[in-house]
Amino acid sequence: MTGTTTSDEWEILTYPDKRLRIPSEPVVELTDDTRKKALALADLMHIARGIGLAAPQVGWHVRVLAINLSGQPRDGLIFANPEVIRRSKATFAAKEMCLSVPGVDGKVVRPREIRIRCMNMDGEVNEFNLDGLLARCFLHEMDHLDGVLFIDRLGAAKKIAIRNKLKRLGGPE
Ligand code: ZN
Repeated sequence: MTGTTTSDEWEILTYPDKRLRIPSEPVVELTDDTRKKALALADLMHIARGIGLAAPQVGWHVRVLAINLSGQPRDGLIFANPEVIRRSKATFAAKEMCLSVPGVDGKVVRPREIRIRCMNMDGEVNEFNLDGLLARCFLHEMDHLDGVLFIDRLGAAKKIAIRNKLKRLGGPE
């Protein structure tokens, strides 16, 4: 299958795999096993050269995501239970892609700034203000935790325009 990326443990699920639509459960206790899996998730993101990867994209249905805008492993971020606690009224549209929807891109409107609360891999809960691409990336990955794909958020005309590409991937769902 085109666009499939695998590591020893996981492969990135691609549209129209129904497991991408399952909402994920919060991390209740940050165990060594959870940490190990979260690191493996970040590794897979780097292998796939993605800027973000959410746990349900590998069929692990917990609220964990990895983000790395630079592609340098030292810049990798891993968070659990992220939630948006504030979002700006100001929005902007920008092109998005997704490792789970290979070969498809489209502009999505998202808030310009957000404030999020999330837990790091030491179990500490912090709040951050994010803007621009980083905010967009978080929101895209957080969508995955709710079973939402960026293609769901495209405008009506664009949804029609990508129909054949989705068919080639095996859709519609
Ligand atoms: Zn995605």
